Amino acid sequence: MRFLIFLGLLILLYYLVKGWIFPSKSRQMDRSGGEWELDSEMVKDPQCKTYIPKDSAIRARIAGRNYYFCSKECMRKFRAEMEGNPGEGKGG
Ligand SMILES: [Zn+2]
Repeated sequence: MRFLIFLGLLILLYYLVKGWIFPSKSRQMDRSGGEWELDSEMVKDPQCKTYIPKDSAIRARIAGRNYYFCSKECMRKFRAEMEGNPGEGKGG
């Protein structure tokens, strides 16, 4: 029964050689779920409901509270609505 042992060795050798020549894709990046790291805090623009980084947001103190806006235009609109300035003009 030497033939079977020889055949077994041959198959084993075949797989070994196959592994050397065609290395299996063992190196796989198994990192699922990216980390979303934010340096700056996100704040919400109460006027247009947009989230902006606190660093680049425009801060305004309206009616005793601090608000963050994406632009000066939003700040003006919001302030006008909060303070109810008739001079600003409500255009829809
Ligand atoms: Zn805005």
